[in-house]
Amino acid sequence: RDLVSPDAEGDEQAIESALRPKRLSEFIGQGRVREQLSLVLESAVRRGRPPDHVLMSGSPGLGKTTLAMIIAAELAMPLRLTSGPALERAGDLAAILSTLSEGEVLFIDEIHRMARPAEEMLYLAMEDFRVDIIVGKGPGATAIPLEIAPFTLVGATTRAGLLPAPLRDRFGFVAHMDFYDVEELEQVLRRSSRLLSLDLPEEGGHEIARRSRGTPRIANRLLRRVRDFAEVRTDGVITRDIASAALNLYEVDAEGLDRLDRAVLGALLRKFGGGPVGLSTLAVAVGEEPETVEVVAEPFLVRQGLLARTPRGRVATASAWLHLGLTPPPQAFG
Ligand code: ADP
Repeated sequence: RDLVSPDAEGDEQAIESALRPKRLSEFIGQGRVREQLSLVLESAVRRGRPPDHVLMSGSPGLGKTTLAMIIAAELAMPLRLTSGPALERAGDLAAILSTLSEGEVLFIDEIHRMARPAEEMLYLAMEDFRVDIIVGKGPGATAIPLEIAPFTLVGATTRAGLLPAPLRDRFGFVAHMDFYDVEELEQVLRRSSRLLSLDLPEEGGHEIARRSRGTPRIANRLLRRVRDFAEVRTDGVITRDIASAALNLYEVDAEGLDRLDRAVLGALLRKFGGGPVGLSTLAVAVGEEPETVEVVAEPFLVRQGLLARTPRGRVATASAWLHLGLTPPPQAFG
């Protein structure tokens, strides 16, 4: 579960920062986003003004934090990092906003998880570069306006749909990050193996790439686990067979499905006859939070054509039955 979890934990963060592309030109894939963003940044630099606020949406591990760092680097401006859950009270946000320097880039990860009062303060800050500090309580409370330096907000969310419209509307540029295709992940792996001085022949890279759930973070993580295997069991060269043996050992299957993905599909097929079944029922069946199933497992299963979200609930596709080696019931799929 840890191996394929899209979130980075502990030691991994240090390795990740070493592997992060630093400039837009080094950033692999997401062609459209890259091109749009480079226009936004270049025109801001020419005008000598901070660019519009940027919102990035997409699954964990697709490069949102990396892009935020790149935005700051391209603008040659400092970057301040925080996250929605850390902004519990409006005061938490005010403390950050009031100390921003002119042109600074403020990155708020998981912006959909910000508390309501902070969110409302952010509206005004984004629009007018001003916040109202409320002093006192009840009828005697007064709002003291405070000017803040013009800054650029970069927000990231795994669930754009959860963002209130007034917040979403205040972003001048919205970037939708997609899963990466196998070739792009091969490029990510080539770059990482160079940085880590690993011997990664093309077929080995291809094998890891196609099992990486379309996600650079997972590709980099699998690369390190395959490297361990190659170094302990053989001469360190990551051939296709070595990659495949190592990934089987870590329970990453040929399509890149991990244990959670297979648990979700398995429950959908075996317990609910392929659906439709509601998200929360499905989550209980695999012993996970609905949000984990929805954010971590489902987007990839949908993209692989294994699962469909319908108004009546989650439904398995014909490929899902095939993938798990099961026979669909006769009434399914006409
Ligand atoms: P997110 O913020 O979307 O969860 P991150 O920006 O933290 O994802 O990216 C996770 C890791 O994946 C980074 O450490 C980086 O090394 C790698 N990565 C992400 N996108 C790319 C890319 N386009 N090219 C190369 N490496 C990438």
